Amino acid sequence: MATPSDRAPLAEQVEQLLATEGPLTIVAAGDPVLRRPAERFDGQLDPALLARFVEALRITMHAAPGVGLAAPQVGVGLRIAVIEDPAPVPQEVRLARGRVPQPFRVLVNPSYEPVGAGRAAFFEGCLSVPGYQAVVARHAEVRLTGEDEHGRAVDEVFAGWPARIVQHETDHLDGVLYLDRAEPRSLSSNQAIAERWAEPTPARAAEALGFELP
Ligand code: ZN
Repeated sequence: MATPSDRAPLAEQVEQLLATEGPLTIVAAGDPVLRRPAERFDGQLDPALLARFVEALRITMHAAPGVGLAAPQVGVGLRIAVIEDPAPVPQEVRLARGRVPQPFRVLVNPSYEPVGAGRAAFFEGCLSVPGYQAVVARHAEVRLTGEDEHGRAVDEVFAGWPARIVQHETDHLDGVLYLDRAEPRSLSSNQAIAERWAEPTPARAAEALGFELP
């Protein structure tokens, strides 16, 4: 619960971040802000400031570039994230990974639960862990509940790559990094990914590097 006395510092912090034009600085793994559960959004930023903050998250995500960005990744411990994926991938990748375009969305106070028992394992990366990717087995389908940036309730099922994105970003708000859920033996540099594991599924990587797929 936020009280008036602890609202001011967060709003002040965000005002300070927004004082500089352009993309925000992305916090890297090792910063405790990425390991603390973020505070529930409860009006700590007034609507105008929230709108400016969301726009800065969007600009930062595009500039990175990435398909999602959570507030703690810019040092702000609030349960807010943005997602957007134009999914510029070949058809065989789209089919194997369910990587369909995901329009821009703002997730406020999101949480997810699995829908069914299906699992999907693919390489993924994180803007706060630059240079590497690893295979993460995630729920194939999730029900996401929470709010949008206008405070309207959200209750929606996500599948395919968008399901992976919402799990990754919601995990950030709980202080969880994708590495916590990854197959350690799958850890690969971006160069190794580009040279060896750009194929649609990680089946060959699992065999060559010695890790299990669900
Ligand atoms: Zn991330």
